[in-house]
Amino acid sequence: MKTAFIHANVLDVLNRTVLFDHTVLTEDGVITAVTSSADTAGYEIVDLEGKYLTPGLFNCHIHVTSTCEGDMAKQSSAPVDRILTALKNMEAFIRTGVTFVRDVGTPDGIALDLRQAVKDGRIKMAPDMQACGTAICMTGGTGRKIIATEVDGEVECRREARRLVRQGVDVVKLMATGGTLTHGTKPGCPELTEEEMRAAVEAAHAEGLQVISHAESNEGVRNAIRAGVDCIEHGDDMDEETVRLMVEHGTWLDGTVSALYCILRGKDKGLPEEFYQKAIDAEGQVYRSFNMAFHAGVPCAAGSDCGSSFCYHDESAIELVIMVEKCGITAMDAMVVGTINSARLCGVEESLGSVTVGKKAHFAVFAENPAENIRAAMDCCMTVKNGEILWQK
Ligand SMILES: [Zn+2]
Repeated sequence: MKTAFIHANVLDVLNRTVLFDHTVLTEDGVITAVTSSADTAGYEIVDLEGKYLTPGLFNCHIHVTSTCEGDMAKQSSAPVDRILTALKNMEAFIRTGVTFVRDVGTPDGIALDLRQAVKDGRIKMAPDMQACGTAICMTGGTGRKIIATEVDGEVECRREARRLVRQGVDVVKLMATGGTLTHGTKPGCPELTEEEMRAAVEAAHAEGLQVISHAESNEGVRNAIRAGVDCIEHGDDMDEETVRLMVEHGTWLDGTVSALYCILRGKDKGLPEEFYQKAIDAEGQVYRSFNMAFHAGVPCAAGSDCGSSFCYHDESAIELVIMVEKCGITAMDAMVVGTINSARLCGVEESLGSVTVGKKAHFAVFAENPAENIRAAMDCCMTVKNGEILWQK
């Protein structure tokens, strides 16, 4: 199939510029030209009439089977319910311009099967997906019995990481601190130790897999960095020394900066009081930490933590909005973080993340320029995956 997307204002995230009134040619799902003077004979024409065509958005921190309502621990655990919810959520991503997601924890690791079904083309209205299966936590730790398996000691940690690797996960996830949304745990307290995490990191790195870690406190982030973790999820409360360590180790930050903002919307909608208090305590720290890390040169990716309480799958781009409005980075920066940077974190930058000849034709289309007004990214007009329009208004 050959398609020409004409009269597009193309966001070039590699050069941080907009190519006005360009044509993007695609053939069999791959970009073959981005040009101001194309011969479109033989192509199916899609006239974008001056709308803004960007790379498909990324969301590197999702929980695809969650309904997002209240306490994840109280949601139905019936496999059919989880799958029906996941299908709905994956379609929500497509309706909002998100064409690549990384799932960082589902009950029984069910996202691994969903990922395969998407890859095989059995689920069409879905973004490309990576998944960690289940995460690894300490006994009594964050995500236990829902999205994480409990282990203690280096031996068990290594064993669980090896089991996950052989199960076919794309990435291994560890829990370095307590969590806002897990009963009884304290975000400020370290959980898996540096030694335990190092054992898992060795097991995953030996097989070429990346390791990410949930970490909501300064000490937990440091433990994870020293253990060799590749990306910190959340990083709510970091000081300058910790940020310096991240730069030195080349550790990524997937800040999920919109998560607490979204969680706090649930105050009168059934959010447990304990969760509310923890979110209130941490909200300001998140914005400050992200701002500091970004400006210090820590590589940052975009993940909204949708699936957490009141963090919905159909408003993924709120992560980019909060980066700009609360964390103080520019709209262009946020679009770079939400596309090519996130592609780099996920190791797919050769085929995704920018509108470049040779890459997959995964696009989002917006009425206005989101690299100028980031709120435009909340209102997607069209989503293209592999050169095919999967959704349009
Ligand atoms: Zn999460």
